[in-house]
Amino acid sequence: MRCRGLLLLFLLILPVTHLVAQDRPSSCADCPTWNIPQQPFRIYGNSYYVGTHGLGSVLITSEAGHVLIDGDLPESVPQIVANIRLLGFKVEDIKLIVNSHVHFDHAGGIAELQKLSGARVAASQWSADVMEKGAVPRDDPQFGVIVPIARIARVRTFKDGETLTAGAVVITAHLTPGHTPGGTSWSWRSCENNRCLNLVYADSLTPVSADGFLFTRSKEYPHAVEDFERSYAFLDSTPCDILITPHPDFSNLWARLDRRNSYPDALIDPTACRVLAAASRERLKVRLATENGR
Ligand SMILES: [Zn+2]
Repeated sequence: MRCRGLLLLFLLILPVTHLVAQDRPSSCADCPTWNIPQQPFRIYGNSYYVGTHGLGSVLITSEAGHVLIDGDLPESVPQIVANIRLLGFKVEDIKLIVNSHVHFDHAGGIAELQKLSGARVAASQWSADVMEKGAVPRDDPQFGVIVPIARIARVRTFKDGETLTAGAVVITAHLTPGHTPGGTSWSWRSCENNRCLNLVYADSLTPVSADGFLFTRSKEYPHAVEDFERSYAFLDSTPCDILITPHPDFSNLWARLDRRNSYPDALIDPTACRVLAAASRERLKVRLATENGR
């Protein structure tokens, strides 16, 4: 009897939980961890962290409108929106949304964020094509294993080194391909009182791929290794006082933020981009060694 009661309760609850899960399905096995909530905070000056604990998203503000970098997962959108509001800003004031790379964990939320804000979206030519088609192309090293993003309409494109403006915010696009052929890093300046710093949102440079894809000899993406080298060269040379990455762990953001309680400049490290380049180079070297052994 007790068992039957429990079974009945289970059958009653199942459709409800199923509905909730259907409402915002998780996009992948790692997604619940990536989507752990994060209290938003000021990075420096007019730059704020509004992403989740596992996925970066940065709001750069001005009285005349804001820029948002990265939209994270589809299921991250309510958190990004709530974080922006908690900081006292309006989502409707986002005038421009840009992206690091068009994988679902960094661009999956952009379509909805565009709808909510009315912002224009800008991307590198390769990323813009992916956004408009909403399909993973064959020259993406993770083709076949990564889920596509929701389609994004009317994406404008830019060239390497181009400066984009929204309100009083000015940011520069740097093509940093390798992880995807359309990867983009961003640089801008933020000021507190009279002290202005160079901020960099550096795209992922990890050589992650589907099984069978070889960075050394891919027909679909033949210049992948040269692309990585070009991206490391950017990181080696760009002025970089504060580094933020799409996966915040890759730039030790949480350890640096903890330290800020006792040392106000803890987020600042002018060597951070070069350190990231060196670590990324090492990872690629290991990966290429395994490929050359095949
Ligand atoms: Zn990725």
